[in-house]
Amino acid sequence: MVNLKYAGPERGTVPVQSRWRAFRAGCGKKKDMSGKSVLYNKFVTGLIWTAVLLGLSFASSRNYLLFHTVAELFSIIVACGIFMLAWNSRRFIDNSYFLFIGIAYLFVAGLDLLHALSYSGSGILDEGGADVSTQLWVAARYVQGISLLIAPFLLGRKVRTTYVMIGYAITVALIVEAIFSWNVFPACYIGGTGLTAFKKMSEYAVSLIFVVSAGLLIRRRKEFDGGVLRLLVWSFVMTIASELFFTFYAGVYDFSNMAGHLFKVTAFYLMYKAIIQTGLVRPYNLLCRNLKQSEELLREEKDKIQKYLDIAGVMFVVLDKDQKVSLINKKGCEILRCDEAEVMGKMWFDAFSPEGIRSEVKRVYEKLVAGDVVPVEYFESPILTAGGGERVIAWHNTVLKDEQGAVQAVLSSGEDITARKRAEEKLEQAMGELKRSNAELEQFAYIASHDLQQPLLIVDGFLKLIQRRYVDKLGPDGNEFIESALDGARQMQSLIRDLLEYARVGRDKPFEPSDCSACLQRSLANLKVAIEESGAIITNDALPVVVADPTQVTQLFQNLISNAVKYRSEDPPRVHISAKRNGREWTFCVRDNGMGIAPENTGRIFDIFQRLHNKNEYPGTGIGLAICKKIAERHGGRIWAESGPGKGSTFYFTIPDREDSDL
Ligand code: ADP
Repeated sequence: MVNLKYAGPERGTVPVQSRWRAFRAGCGKKKDMSGKSVLYNKFVTGLIWTAVLLGLSFASSRNYLLFHTVAELFSIIVACGIFMLAWNSRRFIDNSYFLFIGIAYLFVAGLDLLHALSYSGSGILDEGGADVSTQLWVAARYVQGISLLIAPFLLGRKVRTTYVMIGYAITVALIVEAIFSWNVFPACYIGGTGLTAFKKMSEYAVSLIFVVSAGLLIRRRKEFDGGVLRLLVWSFVMTIASELFFTFYAGVYDFSNMAGHLFKVTAFYLMYKAIIQTGLVRPYNLLCRNLKQSEELLREEKDKIQKYLDIAGVMFVVLDKDQKVSLINKKGCEILRCDEAEVMGKMWFDAFSPEGIRSEVKRVYEKLVAGDVVPVEYFESPILTAGGGERVIAWHNTVLKDEQGAVQAVLSSGEDITARKRAEEKLEQAMGELKRSNAELEQFAYIASHDLQQPLLIVDGFLKLIQRRYVDKLGPDGNEFIESALDGARQMQSLIRDLLEYARVGRDKPFEPSDCSACLQRSLANLKVAIEESGAIITNDALPVVVADPTQVTQLFQNLISNAVKYRSEDPPRVHISAKRNGREWTFCVRDNGMGIAPENTGRIFDIFQRLHNKNEYPGTGIGLAICKKIAERHGGRIWAESGPGKGSTFYFTIPDREDSDL
């Protein structure tokens, strides 16, 4: 397969190009957007983070409630930040994992806020004692853990934010009601005894949920930027550590509780780093990741399309706005006699348009890209091959536009019709020659037969004179010779007359609406004597009006009916004439009950001078049916016969059903 040269997003509009370059530039550089080195940033972050932890530890030693409130508020603010970022960038970042977690963390923050407010000694919602606060804590962790468990399954799917919001609102409302109003939430802390088994089991269960969530996340690691993934996993680890510390604290003010909170703050901070920091400060990493994946998908799709295009028997070329080739298939390379690499990126018209038409086609293409002309869907034009030869191509074009409707590229499929064109040219030439020689022949036949008539009349006249004057002197032999000579002259006369008739068919007379019934009646009138003598019965159906030469239609009927009478059988001749419409033409039918024709002869009887009987049996010249054929063809129709010996014959001829306006 020929590999597609991937043009990538550079082929978008100008702003997309520059944004793309900025992304690429942002990816993988060891400097952040403000130009500071990553090492420096890490150092500063480490310092701040150490200060925060030390500050919190100090606060915890002086006033645990203060420490707790600050720690919880910190995680609440971070959780709200996560929500805000995920929500506002939902159209920007194509990753439903973050959107779902963002919404989940908003509700987790709500539960954590209630937890902080109901904490023992806070003096706000603490009348339920340490149990309510612990219950809220446990509930918040369950919601957080289960959300992180679900989130990996949403990767690559569309998240219906309204439903998710409603789902969380109902869940949190039920939890709050269960704790504050219905008192059905299992007890978590009993004053004097410490943590209940449910609380401890819950912390283990939540830890397990986090482990599984981390596992699921790692399995879908391809969907994440490496840095983001690391931060997320560390956040999970810290959460698990925090949970474990919470399993063995005895009092809500003891060391284990404080350590648990410190780990929680760290876990939230890491989540902050993962989403807020990465999403806001280095958004391009996330975007690059998504773009890279889209790019890869695009590449795969293009490879697939290229495969299909390569199988095609026609050439496919895509030209960009600047007339450069951005895609060509195998067939295209074959026609151009070039490798794909030699064609890709080349200025198409400069390289492959023959010089005579180059500037013109370039001008048209420029106008097309500018939107000044409407694209032509089909046209034929020559191209130059690598060997310097020319091929004629039949092009079909499709214009590829961007969202604003501006032309970005033109996709053309081209069929090499050089051989067909040459054959057509040869045929046209042969047809022209044939027409010319036919015309010459007709002219010759016309003049010859016309000029022959005169001397023949003289011969005929003198023979008759000799017969009249010298009938007694000639004796029986002489009279017989004269009779034979007269017979020959008569035959010659009819031959000349028929030939003249034949030659005349080619002499164009304008067509006009002709009533075929009237033509038939005229022909019957001309054949009156023969019909009466033979006792023939001629019948007909209704016949149409066609656009034709009425004299010739009359002659057609006349020739066919006179043959039907002439080549009769023992029975009196019966002839029936009918017509039937078949699509855009009329098929006429002249059926007789005569002697019939052997099927192998039904074709050749339409050739000039072809007779199936000798002139002693049936007089004739063998020109009548040739005239019929010429007339039918002149009208754009055909003529043929169906017959068998002793079965009678049926002659068919067609005349196209033209409108007057077709003339
Ligand atoms: P011609 O009648 O002068 O011989 P045509 O061209 O009219 O010439 O016919 C060619 C031959 O076709 C005839 O010689 C005859 O043998 C055969 N033919 C034509 N029409 C009929 C018919 N209706 N039935 C049988 N044979 C026919």
